[in-house]
Amino acid sequence: MTGKIIKGIAGFYYVYVEQHGLYECKAKGIFRNQKVKPLVGDNVSIDVLDEEGNKGNITAILPRNNALIRPAVANVDQAVVIFAAADPAPNLNLLDRFLVLMLKQRVETIICFNKRDIVTEDDILLLEAIYKKCGYHVIFTSTYTEEGLLKLKELLKDKTSVVAGPSGVGKSSIVNHIQPEADMETGEISDKIKRGKHTTRHSEIIYIQKGTYICDTPGFSSLYVNDMEKEELKNYFMEFRDYEDACRFQGCVHINEPGCAVKNAVKSGKISEIRYENYSVLYEELKNIKKY
Ligand code: GDP
Ligand code: ZN
Repeated sequence: MTGKIIKGIAGFYYVYVEQHGLYECKAKGIFRNQKVKPLVGDNVSIDVLDEEGNKGNITAILPRNNALIRPAVANVDQAVVIFAAADPAPNLNLLDRFLVLMLKQRVETIICFNKRDIVTEDDILLLEAIYKKCGYHVIFTSTYTEEGLLKLKELLKDKTSVVAGPSGVGKSSIVNHIQPEADMETGEISDKIKRGKHTTRHSEIIYIQKGTYICDTPGFSSLYVNDMEKEELKNYFMEFRDYEDACRFQGCVHINEPGCAVKNAVKSGKISEIRYENYSVLYEELKNIKKY
């Protein structure tokens, strides 16, 4: 049988097999043949050891489409990053860090601003203007009025999506809304490994419906962009691409160079000032990292 590792705890892997349920598995022997460690999100072959107890043994890891390092999860199609439109006010520096980290790992991100119910149309337009301009898919949701939640479900369909965001933005509320009420098939073990509310400490995959999974990740309060050269950073600000060919110097990093078309685009309002400022902050950080 083949299934997907949805959670790993203390040497056990919980493998979900659609239509069958959840199997508590060990990964005996596969380390010797395949020098890779199983990751949450891996599609695996399992031998069922005892049907009643739903125990099994992972015999092989199927080829991965990708494997993210942060969060450590395999076969990710996209990320959904959730911030609150207000309460707490969105930390756009943190958001831009997340976007950079995902782009570096070649994962597309959908930006979801939750708590739509407590902001005005003008607030929305402001946020939309910043991120739509650089090519991101932006949606607004409210778990109170349920606005946008159907749209979100549509975007998740038939994909495995990493769902991430800082604490307090309503991520658990959203996850509770989009996951099925009760999964009869997985009852017993599900209960055993069920997380209480607010306690996502490790990344874990939640089955939504056939072919659709989300990977719920722990809330974060800071993110470090440090595993790249400072000159590489500009590649992850997609909106710079339309302008940088016109920079006077080849290899312009858009910081202090004269004749910089990116800086001119910021001045004329074509590139968001906030985005550019976040770029500069991250660039400075990368510049100051000690190289050993
Ligand atoms: P998490 O920490 O991101 O998982 O956030 P929670 O789901 O625990 O929600 C944090 C707080 O925000 C709770 O008090 C929720 O009731 C509230 N909340 C969640 N969604 C919404 C929303 O759409 N609108 C408003 N106004 N509050 C929300
Ligand atoms: Zn430039």
